[in-house]
Amino acid sequence: MRKMNFSAGPSVMPVEVLEELQKNLVDYHGKGLSMIEASHRGGVFEEMYDECLADFRSILSIPDDYDVYFLGGGATLQFTMIPMNFLLKGSHADYLKTGSWANKAADDAEKIGNVNILFDGKDSNYTTLPDPKSVKPSEGSSYLYLCSNETIGGIEWQDFPTTGDVPLIADMSSDFLSRPVDVSKFAMIYGGVQKNLGPAGAVFVIMRHDLLDKRNPDLTAYMDYAKHAKNKGLYNTPPVFSIWAVSLVLKWIKANGGAEGMLKNAIEKSGYIYDVIDNSDFYRSPVDKSCRSRMNVVFRCPTEELEAKFVEESKKEGMIGLKGHRSVGGLRASLYNALPMEDAASLAAFMKEFERKNG
Ligand code: PMP
Repeated sequence: MRKMNFSAGPSVMPVEVLEELQKNLVDYHGKGLSMIEASHRGGVFEEMYDECLADFRSILSIPDDYDVYFLGGGATLQFTMIPMNFLLKGSHADYLKTGSWANKAADDAEKIGNVNILFDGKDSNYTTLPDPKSVKPSEGSSYLYLCSNETIGGIEWQDFPTTGDVPLIADMSSDFLSRPVDVSKFAMIYGGVQKNLGPAGAVFVIMRHDLLDKRNPDLTAYMDYAKHAKNKGLYNTPPVFSIWAVSLVLKWIKANGGAEGMLKNAIEKSGYIYDVIDNSDFYRSPVDKSCRSRMNVVFRCPTEELEAKFVEESKKEGMIGLKGHRSVGGLRASLYNALPMEDAASLAAFMKEFERKNG
């Protein structure tokens, strides 16, 4: 029996996709070789890859003047590549420190150039976000950087700032394709695929082509986005297995209502858990209601002992991944696209029962 997997990433995949991978692992659609044995130049791989990129573009109606491709190195490499490319000597960039992931990106950028912190959620212990309308880039900023969903803190931007001529760059690792996004608001969106899109290994990059005009052209090859953009991400060997799986997940998303369908499910699944929290004196959510994440629901029990007991007992029911991140403690249910609706309902029922027994 499959576990109910609430892990924050790597995380649950659609079972249909896993079966499709299994079915075609040894012999890809009768071609006589596996996708992961095929050259990334031409043939079996490129046919699949071109379709993958086309599906990717169509799901979010990505405008033609954006390049789309996949890189390796994890989302973490982007914390470095972005400032290397766009935070030029003598300039500065705006960062919004909203939690672990935005903060790590800001820390890396500070090693490369001048960073202006427009917002720091430290005083609220990173449990709230600024009103997007109040966020204004500073004069002469090279770009404004934010993380759309803080996977550890459990806060998610419900709407985004408007930054005018200043390029808006977003890490959407943990909520990408869980809702429609107006790509044209952003100069760059990127994210690791290991939450909503597939197995770890690939990072997607969506970048408006003219942003490349503002880059540092003197970087080593891999660090230079222009090298990747020119070759649809095939400057060097891409993470082939991960991309193949992503291509299947994209088809699964299309067949399940696209980004709108994913949003509808995310509202319903997170609603199950937030409803339990809101109707209880036992559980509490540490985050501001206006920016609760639909992907990572963070919650607390009255004591740490009860939280440890919650994790142990939920495991016995086949639920895994509910322990909060080690840096913040507590509990966290990640409810990515592929998590079945029934699993969210089962968790809600388990929470009520646990409260009844221990409250
Ligand atoms: N950004 C966010 C929002 C994340 O959740 C994570 C990983 N959980 C990262 C960046 C870092 O990703 P990676 O481990 O792929 O470098």
